[in-house]
Amino acid sequence: MHIEKNISLKPYNTFNIDVKAKYFVEVNDLSELKELLDDKNYISEKRLIIGGGSNILFTKDFDGIVIKLNNSEIEKFNETDEEIFIKVDAGVEWDSFVKFCVDNGLRGVENLSLIPGNVGAVPIQNIGAYGVEVKDIIESVNIVLLSDLGEKTYSNNECNFGYRNSIFKNELKDKFVITSVLFKLSKSNSINLDYSPLKNYFYGKNESKITIEEVREAVIQIRTGKLPDPKIIGNAGSFFKNPIISKNQFDDLANIYKDLKGFPESNSDIKISAGWLIEKCGLKGKRIGDVGVHEKQALVIVNYGDTSGNKILEFSKMIQKEVKNRFEIDLINEVNIL
Ligand SMILES: Cc1cc2nc3c(=O)[nH]c(=O)nc-3n(C[C@H](O)[C@H](O)[C@H](O)COP(=O)(O)OP(=O)(O)OC[C@H]3O[C@@H](n4cnc5c(N)ncnc54)[C@H](O)[C@@H]3O)c2cc1C
Repeated sequence: MHIEKNISLKPYNTFNIDVKAKYFVEVNDLSELKELLDDKNYISEKRLIIGGGSNILFTKDFDGIVIKLNNSEIEKFNETDEEIFIKVDAGVEWDSFVKFCVDNGLRGVENLSLIPGNVGAVPIQNIGAYGVEVKDIIESVNIVLLSDLGEKTYSNNECNFGYRNSIFKNELKDKFVITSVLFKLSKSNSINLDYSPLKNYFYGKNESKITIEEVREAVIQIRTGKLPDPKIIGNAGSFFKNPIISKNQFDDLANIYKDLKGFPESNSDIKISAGWLIEKCGLKGKRIGDVGVHEKQALVIVNYGDTSGNKILEFSKMIQKEVKNRFEIDLINEVNIL
């Protein structure tokens, strides 16, 4: 374990923001992690656990220790003809796990293809895409508590998963390290084509003949067609969550805007597209200096060059203000601002 000082975090966040960490260390397994967390020299330092850095916006240097978890085991349990449990270390790259499942005929995760980042982060905001949320396949989450280094397992139910939300963003915020996740995958579930671009992709094809490899391929093609590749243009995916509004407010808006789409969240609440709201404000493709709204996906804020986290934050607040003025709707950040 090699603790470095005064390190640039630019290679460790997909927005490509050049801030520094007072200390930076990569740990390879649970015992190294515990040794580090218990080290008297660093015990009073602020800690930040980082995976792929694809859901973080740094607005200043990090005055503490940044810990990158690189544990990488994948272990199978209790396999039957119908299902399998797989324990995956937090440091495993998420999409390599998705590929592993698809290659092995394990179903339920193919719609979540190509989401950047590592397995350790996926339960935190309950990642979702193309009609699937990761909570649908999580059995339990293993953590180490920062307070006493105790190991605990949270069952799916105890994780309080919601839309881009979980116990890890609320009661447990800043109190834990996720070390591994136990997934339950089916060998027979049918594919999920609820999300309309995916349905359109397979238009005319017999659904029962579509394989999970084809679904993964379709998701990858659709995503690469409309989302900027962080290796080329800095971004962190959706900057805001899709807002959930009351049915009354939705009906009022739908009377004015005939193209407004809603997705029922409960009997009284409807989720609408934050990207649609931003586009209606005329902000799709808007650019100020090196910060902009992506031209193909209004929900993604991009760093075209060498901008600062503060400029991106300022730009995001301008978007929030415009949406609020026009629609009386608050956009909530999906990205973690640090
Ligand atoms: C191009 C692009 C597309 C995206 N598409 C989607 C999408 O379709 N759906 C979606 O839900 N998200 C999407 N995202 C967002 C992002 O990829 C996910 O949120 C991802 O799960 C973040 O993983 P990460 O390892 O990069 O987390 P990081 O950004 O490194 O960390 C995110 C947060 O989790 C904490 N954290 C990370 N690992 C641990 C750990 N092991 N223990 C404790 N805390 C930890 C960090 O401290 C931080 O607060 C996208 C991002 C990009 C850049």
